[in-house]
Amino acid sequence: MENNNTPSSIVYRLNQNDEIIYVNDNWDKFAEENDGMPENLSKNVLNKKILSFIADFETKHLYKAILDNVRLYKRSATIGIMCDSPNIVRFIDITIKPLENDHVEFHCLLKKQHERTKVLLLDKHIPRSDDFIKMCSYCKAINIDNEWFETEKGVSKLSLFYKSRLPQISHGICPSCYKNVMEEIERLKQATTG
Ligand SMILES: [Zn+2]
Repeated sequence: MENNNTPSSIVYRLNQNDEIIYVNDNWDKFAEENDGMPENLSKNVLNKKILSFIADFETKHLYKAILDNVRLYKRSATIGIMCDSPNIVRFIDITIKPLENDHVEFHCLLKKQHERTKVLLLDKHIPRSDDFIKMCSYCKAINIDNEWFETEKGVSKLSLFYKSRLPQISHGICPSCYKNVMEEIERLKQATTG
C-alpha cells in the first residue's frame, strides 16, 4: 500500500454504496482531540453510510453531487473546509480520489491551524436551548437574518456570550461555499477531454 501522506492526513475510503470501509489511525486521533464524541470513533463509523452522518439536506445533497461526479469523471476533486473545535480553527483540504469499482478515497490534509478564544457555541458538551441558528457546514459562518457572518463575528452579533443557554446548531451552506463546490464540480466536467 502506498504511504505518502503527511502525518496529519486523515484518510478514509467508501465503497460503491458510500459505506465507510476503511479509516486510517489518524481518524481516531482526530476524533479524540476534536470533540471526544464516542459516536465519531472508527469502531462506530465503519460499515455505515457516510451520508448518515450528515444531518442537513443541503450539505448531504452537495456531498452526493461531489461523489457522483468524482466517480463519473474519474477525477479527483478538492474542497477547502474549516473544521473547528471550540478553541482551534483548522483549515483543511479534502481531496476525493476515484478508485476501482466506484470506491473513493478521501484525504483530509490540515493546511494550517491556530488557537482562538474558546467559542462555546461549538462545544458539543454544553446544554442547549430550543432555539436554532444555522451554520455553514464548510466554513462555519453563521446565518443571522439571511446574512452570513464569520464565526466570531456572528457569535458577537448574536450576543451569544450573554445568553444563559446557547442555541442548537443546524447546518447548511453559505452562498460562497456553495459556489466553490459547484465550481469544483464544473472543473471536473471540463477537465474531461477523453
Ligand atoms: Zn461557508
